[in-house]
Amino acid sequence: MNDLDFFAAVIKALPDTVFEVDADGRFTFFHAPGHDNNGSEYVGTTVRDHLPAAAADLILGATQRCRALKQPQIIKYAVARPYEPTCTFQAHLGLVESRDTVVAIVRDITAEARHEAELNEQKRCLEEANTSLEQFVYLASHDLREPLSGVAGYATLLQKRYAYALDHNAAHFVDMIVGGTQNMEIKIDGLLSLSRINKGVLTGTFPLGAAVDSARRCLFGPLQGVDVEFQFPSTTTPLIRGDRGQITQVFQNLFSNSIKYRQEGQKLTIAVGVEDCPEQANMLRVSVKDNGIGFDMKHADRIFGVFQRLYTVHQYPGTGIGLAIVKKIVERHGGKVWPESEPGNGSTFFFTLPKA
Ligand code: ADP
Repeated sequence: MNDLDFFAAVIKALPDTVFEVDADGRFTFFHAPGHDNNGSEYVGTTVRDHLPAAAADLILGATQRCRALKQPQIIKYAVARPYEPTCTFQAHLGLVESRDTVVAIVRDITAEARHEAELNEQKRCLEEANTSLEQFVYLASHDLREPLSGVAGYATLLQKRYAYALDHNAAHFVDMIVGGTQNMEIKIDGLLSLSRINKGVLTGTFPLGAAVDSARRCLFGPLQGVDVEFQFPSTTTPLIRGDRGQITQVFQNLFSNSIKYRQEGQKLTIAVGVEDCPEQANMLRVSVKDNGIGFDMKHADRIFGVFQRLYTVHQYPGTGIGLAIVKKIVERHGGKVWPESEPGNGSTFFFTLPKA
């Protein structure tokens, strides 16, 4: 088989249209499977003879760029036909220097383009629904705070000023009201923080170690009286792209959980690890590992839900919103978060973040 036979066979086997145009935009070769005579009658006519002006402009513009830059070009164009759905095509163009022509391979991508448009529309609707849900959560939490502060304020007044007039049961009931309203205020604050996460700026660049250090400094209160050793490979502080305040918040939430869920009578160790993400070259995989009480992995998904906890407030204080915030921040940065744990054997929380 000589070269010409070979290339003719390749062109015939292609499901795509292949054409060649000269410097005047005139077809010097045309092969379109499915057309009468494979479209050979197009030879000698011009691109503008067959295509609407907008599509012809795009193709001829790309052939000119191909000639001027001596580089292949890829374009997409749409062709609307009366009483038929608009078709979308993708053309790959390459220069044939010896013939001073441009050859193009054109594929009908109407189905993919429609699918992509549908997906984009669904994404837009989801984003819109998400934004209005966040706005609703923000407004509802904000408006609930005011009457709640009133209840909390008056219950505290009752507790302080009328303690002498309350019998044992009444005093206990007032204590319960004060405790309940405080708990609700903390939960509402958590919801407010959750609804504000999408407002942060994602374009900052900072060393991961800076966020770890800031988070550690914020832990002064919870760390009081706790024997803890932090391990962090400070020599490697890779640069992260994102919202520094939010990433600090991620470490703060994870560290404070490690402190809260530590094993009694044992020195707490918290180790932060960083490595390249094996699955995604542009991401880092960060881990926060503790030697605390751990948990059963059957709860691995549940613990990231809003207000989901594995203990009562009497066993361990908390609102069940810390990990929901961690998940939302990490996902907003294009990453994912997952745990590994075993009851009595500590927990490791892994998450991925974009490299700067
Ligand atoms: P909270 O600590 O207020 O309950 P979180 O959303 O931070 O809320 O955590 C949800 C649950 O996940 C906790 O109630 C706890 O059962 C479990 N958990 C989180 N971090 C750890 C950890 N480091 N060790 C053991 N359990 C943990």
